[in-house]
Amino acid sequence: MILISACLCGIDCKYNGLNNLDENIAGLVKKGLAIPFCPEQLGGLPTPRLPSEIVEGTGGDVLDGLAKVINKEGEDVTENFIRGAQQSLKLANMYGIKTAILKSKSPSCGYGEIYDGSFRRILIKGNGVTASLFDRNSIKVLTEKY
Ligand code: SF4
Repeated sequence: MILISACLCGIDCKYNGLNNLDENIAGLVKKGLAIPFCPEQLGGLPTPRLPSEIVEGTGGDVLDGLAKVINKEGEDVTENFIRGAQQSLKLANMYGIKTAILKSKSPSCGYGEIYDGSFRRILIKGNGVTASLFDRNSIKVLTEKY
């Protein structure tokens, strides 16, 4: 069993109320091999919601209290992102999950590259908050791209 970002499975949990359906990845859920989850919803954020980015750091820095997650109106949503990551890890542990396929570039799910906090679609190296927590807990993270 693996965990998959719910938006990749066609669930409308993305910030704008839409999804990022990837038919091949969603097929794993249909076969009973994967569980969809959305860390931002698990962290208590509504859908739709304002887009957010990590400012001056990465998901690991957020977990270490060194960076914040801010939405497009400038509101601090760091607590929601940390809670979402923790609840997602709880879900993974509940099922003994060791692999996750996460949506690239997201401030929660992104792995390898994320946006830089300027809301200008500039990418930097780093992981989202949930991807970082998974990485730190030996859960292998893949994305829909690699
Ligand atoms: S938090 Fe992850 S699962 Fe939820 S909408 Fe964003 S990328 Fe998709």
